[in-house]
Amino acid sequence: MGIEYRSLEVTCPFCQTVKSIKIPDAVFTQKKFGSIKVQVPAGAVCPEHQFIVFVDTKGIIRGYEKIDLLMSVSIEEAKTKDKKPGWITIKGLIQRFGFYGLFSLIHAKLFNYPHYIIKKKEGDDISELLIKVGENLMPEKYKGTTHSIQFLDEIDYNRIKLKEKDALLIDSQLNILQTPWDEKLKFEEAALKKALEIIEEKEQLLIIQQDISKLIKEAELVESILSNVKEIYEDDLIELISKELKIPKITKYRLTLIKIFITRNINSKLTSKIKNKVQEFLDFL
Ligand SMILES: [Zn+2]
Repeated sequence: MGIEYRSLEVTCPFCQTVKSIKIPDAVFTQKKFGSIKVQVPAGAVCPEHQFIVFVDTKGIIRGYEKIDLLMSVSIEEAKTKDKKPGWITIKGLIQRFGFYGLFSLIHAKLFNYPHYIIKKKEGDDISELLIKVGENLMPEKYKGTTHSIQFLDEIDYNRIKLKEKDALLIDSQLNILQTPWDEKLKFEEAALKKALEIIEEKEQLLIIQQDISKLIKEAELVESILSNVKEIYEDDLIELISKELKIPKITKYRLTLIKIFITRNINSKLTSKIKNKVQEFLDFL
């Protein structure tokens, strides 16, 4: 039985070029996940731009997200470097999964979401590569708590069986991602952007590692604060973090990430102690 496709009329959010792309029908008919994201590489719709298309399960486009990162390395260069055994480069991974794919992988690893990857058909060697990336990104303490990556050979979406519901599924061949989260991937994007500015490729992974360590340090502080209070207002918590770590006040987005980190990696109930003044006021009305 052949795979049936559905045409999706996509408009480049940068230059408004319109083109149809084909998505397997089964992506929409299976109801395992909420949010379907199609990663459109440069050259697929227009020559220059890459972006993400958000599609609902009815096949209706719900929105676009621009990807503003540029890679200064040629495809050929990244491929040759990737072939050295045990040698992971950020650029090689981007080549493999696209920017958004890599953001999502980092996100899943950091926030402890189960992740499944559909392998390319033959001679795919990503398994080992990705396991190494995971090992490299997370600090020792949290390596054990994170889900390991599951690799699927199945291309037929209807036959894919996942153990966990809140999982990330990446089809690296079709550039389709299904993500269980609502939060944006700005943290991962910023970390990657910073890393790519470093020319030395071995240092790039280190930069991402450092950004992750910083976030985890803040999360651990919040955990200890929360363990010692009955409840705390968001604004007071942000001020306290700034004072304790001697850093500028963190954004609400970052606090959201910290909450998710604590909930998914440390303690699922602790963050309910964080109160929001605006919400309280609205509840009162
Ligand atoms: Zn364009």
